[in-house]
Amino acid sequence: MSKSKRKLLLGNEAIARGLVENGCAIATSYPGTPASEILAAVAFFQNQESLSMHTQWAINEKVAFEVAYAGCQAGLRAAVSMKQVGLNVASDPLMSAAYLGTKGGFVLISADDPGPHSSQTEQDSRLMAMFAKIPVLDPDSPRQAKDMMGMAYDLSEAHQIPVMVRPTTRVCHSRQDIALGAIPKNKRVVQFEKNPARWAATPKFRLQLHGELEEKLAAIARYRPTAPKKLNPRARSKKVIIASGVVAAHTKDILKELKIWSKIPFYQVIQPFPLHTRFINQMIETYEDILVIEETMGVIEMQLADRYRVKGKNSGAVPRVGELGPEKIQKIVSDFAGLKSEVFSIKSPPGRRPTLCPGCPHRASFFAIKKAAPRGIYTSDIGCYTLGLNMGAVDTVLCMGAAISQASGFYHAYKKEKKRPDIVATIGDSTFFHAGVPALIDAVVQKVGFVLVILDNRTTAMTGNQPTPATGHGACGEETETVDIRSLVEGCGVKFLREANPYDVKDFITLLKEAVQYSRKNGPAVVISKYPCVLHRARQGGSGEIIPVEVSDDCDGCGYCIKHFECPALIYHDEDKDDKHVTIDPILCTECGVCLNVCPKGAFVQKK
Ligand code: SF4
Ligand code: SF4
Repeated sequence: MSKSKRKLLLGNEAIARGLVENGCAIATSYPGTPASEILAAVAFFQNQESLSMHTQWAINEKVAFEVAYAGCQAGLRAAVSMKQVGLNVASDPLMSAAYLGTKGGFVLISADDPGPHSSQTEQDSRLMAMFAKIPVLDPDSPRQAKDMMGMAYDLSEAHQIPVMVRPTTRVCHSRQDIALGAIPKNKRVVQFEKNPARWAATPKFRLQLHGELEEKLAAIARYRPTAPKKLNPRARSKKVIIASGVVAAHTKDILKELKIWSKIPFYQVIQPFPLHTRFINQMIETYEDILVIEETMGVIEMQLADRYRVKGKNSGAVPRVGELGPEKIQKIVSDFAGLKSEVFSIKSPPGRRPTLCPGCPHRASFFAIKKAAPRGIYTSDIGCYTLGLNMGAVDTVLCMGAAISQASGFYHAYKKEKKRPDIVATIGDSTFFHAGVPALIDAVVQKVGFVLVILDNRTTAMTGNQPTPATGHGACGEETETVDIRSLVEGCGVKFLREANPYDVKDFITLLKEAVQYSRKNGPAVVISKYPCVLHRARQGGSGEIIPVEVSDDCDGCGYCIKHFECPALIYHDEDKDDKHVTIDPILCTECGVCLNVCPKGAFVQKK
């Protein structure tokens, strides 16, 4: 056992600590903001404490779920973490695992992103838990998130059911002083007990399992350790406020701020589904006016199911979209309490448009794509390279892997037309492994005429440089086997396959033109654009070839490079109308030399 002490932890680190302190033996994940740091922190604690456990970045969330779930079937405590849209990918095993149940404790952490700050949707994972019929816990802070790991394992093992914990961005990415507990070193016995009627149940037995699942939920709705808590026991009123998650923490502060803490009863729900039966009855029988504040959808409100007395998302009293910050909650609570309080507002600093880093190889690829297929349709995907839309090189982004299937869809839509636009899809290396391979096989089979550019920067860059199956190391830094993208593409049946460095801009444009030409008559052409992420390379101490650039007097300030290349190191000076020009910020410039190919007037020149 390690000594107990306190530490300032990020919410995701607190979750990881909660997992290892509660004997998690298998932890898996696929990176995605705001959940990415959970597995990285588990790996850190594993290395620090020499824990005998399996920690893995999986190829996608579905695989991550299934690997961890098998661990719980073998009697171990297991956990899988992901972001909310990742849960869509893992929804297939989730639905089935709810029926089959668990043996060792199984915790699914699905981090939501109200706002959304870095996601395609604002979806509420609690609703997914409701859909799958599994209980969900909703932490209000890093400390509570850590405590909930033990609670979730106990609940899971008491009722043999997967348990979801749903932190939101504000919980995942805030820091709190946390007491570190002891980490058990005793390993559980691994023992998979064969029981095909349960673990491989046929439809007839699934019906029976569904019945059992309903019984489990009814019992969980009576389970005392997760029951809602009245946080201000002395408050008495016919009005009541109910909240869950991080908005419960905000609401608590606001009730005190408005000086009504001792007047209006306030309940925190830590298990939004299934809502405790006694609690539902008590609320409906005791109160005339019920306000529910929750993110992002009306999950508690829906279960209270009294549209005359219950106010919340569904009634319109609480905004249906966006994050519920303190200023919004103050207005909601004031209106409910009949107060005319001055609503304070928090001014956010002006935002900066997100852009690719200076020297990013994706910028060079996008520039070349636009030269090779100037009037093309550009389908793209989820990753840093989504920012290619600033360069006009990204027309669609749907979900992981969709760049390839959408390229197929556009091809089929235009196939019978006299003039078919060229189609160029871009996808990152990690996203290609995650969900691109089946789509590429499909495109090969259907002879889809398009160019696929795999932006292979050797890492999962957007979420913090996690390894891909091609990287050769795992979550704890251990050596792993590698899967070669080139061989994988060949294995998909692609006939036109080239690999090139996008920094060699001229050659890269020529290669892409050749690929576009091929795709017009022959089917898919794949170009692997291979160059490491600048940040990843810098973190590893590498620099690459240095090509210092300066702007010559030939610059007439036309702005072409700013609009079509938009490297953040380029500074546009238009203060003097007669002397518009561009300079290079030496602090931001990585001296990649790619801009040498950009200016139509040849104003970028190599420094002597
Ligand atoms: S460097 Fe070239 S492209 Fe950029 S503003 Fe000057 S002339 Fe225009
Ligand atoms: S060399 Fe040019 S393209 Fe590369 S970082 Fe500097 S300004 Fe940007």
